Amino acid sequence: MDALWFDPTEILIGGDWQKATDTLPVEDPSTGEKFTRIGRGSAKDVDAAVLAARTALDGDWGRMTAVERGRILTRIGQLVQTRIDDLTALEARDVGKPLTQARNDAIALARYMEFYGGAADKVMGETIPYLDGYTVYTLREPHGVTGHIVPWNYPMQIIGRSVGAALAMGNACVLKPAEEACLTALAFARLAEEAGLPKGALNVVTGLGEEAGAALSAHPDVDHISFTGSVPVGGLVQAAAAQNVVPVTLELGGKSPQLVFEDADLDAALPFLVGACIQNAGQTCSASSRILVQRSVYDDLVTRLGAAYGALRVGPATADLNVGPLISARQKEIVEGFLAQGADLRRVGQGKVTNAPDGGHYVAPTLFADVPPDHPLARDEIFGPVQVIIPFDTEEDAVHIANNTDYGLVASIWTANGARQMRLAKRLRAGQVFINNYGAGGGVELPFGGVGKSGHGREKGFEALYGFSQLKTVAAKHD
Ligand code: NAD
Repeated sequence: MDALWFDPTEILIGGDWQKATDTLPVEDPSTGEKFTRIGRGSAKDVDAAVLAARTALDGDWGRMTAVERGRILTRIGQLVQTRIDDLTALEARDVGKPLTQARNDAIALARYMEFYGGAADKVMGETIPYLDGYTVYTLREPHGVTGHIVPWNYPMQIIGRSVGAALAMGNACVLKPAEEACLTALAFARLAEEAGLPKGALNVVTGLGEEAGAALSAHPDVDHISFTGSVPVGGLVQAAAAQNVVPVTLELGGKSPQLVFEDADLDAALPFLVGACIQNAGQTCSASSRILVQRSVYDDLVTRLGAAYGALRVGPATADLNVGPLISARQKEIVEGFLAQGADLRRVGQGKVTNAPDGGHYVAPTLFADVPPDHPLARDEIFGPVQVIIPFDTEEDAVHIANNTDYGLVASIWTANGARQMRLAKRLRAGQVFINNYGAGGGVELPFGGVGKSGHGREKGFEALYGFSQLKTVAAKHD
């Protein structure tokens, strides 16, 4: 593969690309072929990476002005932009994303660098009126060494939002990508180096979660952890960080609803209702896996949604169809387990797998209607292309059903009624609410994060810069 222009078995510590103690195979989810290997970083490698980050804070990187940091981030964004085709090919092969979706992630990575490059020198403190004879002001300072544990579903976007914001604030990062999806993380680090990022400001240790990930989250010299992934592992990471009294940002799963009222523009809603779930084969934390529909338009919408599902095509990443493979045989097994639990439900639409290689991990997108709100398919995160439709009668019912899960990441409201839009935007339990659209995480500029089991803390947008910094109050007495 031409796009693999570097040695993926090397990890990055203090500006040196070096071999990890061992290696792990990398599988193409579209074919099942093992096509390369990555480094299997150990706890010792994590130690060295944390030390390198600390050293960078005491060196060139720590002394750099916000303007200079911003310029470097902007340059990284420009370099990413010149390598969009390579990054697209790499991601499509590594995680099985259809080419258009992989390309969107690469474009988003460039955009994150551009956004945080521009924002780096715009974070300001305040002056605070205080006692006579005092001047009091606040400073925003980096945490220090930040750990970034990233999942496999949107590697480029999640690296962009978390490493981008952390570097903008002057932190030194240790990045641990998911073992299933390391290639674009390594490519990104090569581009950051080419853009002039000082040694040690970004370190990358690939490897297993229970080895390199656990070592990073428990490391006593890490000052902040940003974790995106599953609820159980998020709990482990938070518990490990608590031993060192270190702040944690957790971006976990979701069961995000879309509420469709009888006065909604159904033509406008239809592509969002489906796309919000099947994007990335449903492996999206903010996937909308529940559609709640008011009974008066229920039958009509169920028919239309069923037809939309029937038109979906699934195949290898290079075929660039609506849906690609799932990331792994394990993920396919999990999703098929949910489909088995739905065997007695009313299946109203299903896509088709076409020309898919035998070794790939394909699941046909499936839509169920009349699903009871307490059914596992309506409550549990599936992380696959499976969506449920639930009828409701009143606004009150809709809110109750929507809020009745452990999660609270994203919600959307489809209605022409302005008062209802405003009411429900407040009442829905979610970190992001969309009105007459659905953003599956929204744009680079929009703060993102959850409530409940969806996690805590906010990434993306300007808000992330506060999360990746701490406030110092300076009180000067001068008479
Ligand atoms: P995961 O929790 O298994 O893995 C996430 C990361 O944690 C990986 O880098 C992994 O190596 C690492 N890890 C695993 N065990 C670890 C341990 N013991 N200590 C430290 N790190 C460890 O999740 P996944 O399977 O990669 O991703 C799927 C899940 O992530 C889904 O539940 C999804 O909802 C969630 N997710 C959430 C968001 C969000 O922004 N809210 C984004 C993507 C994925």
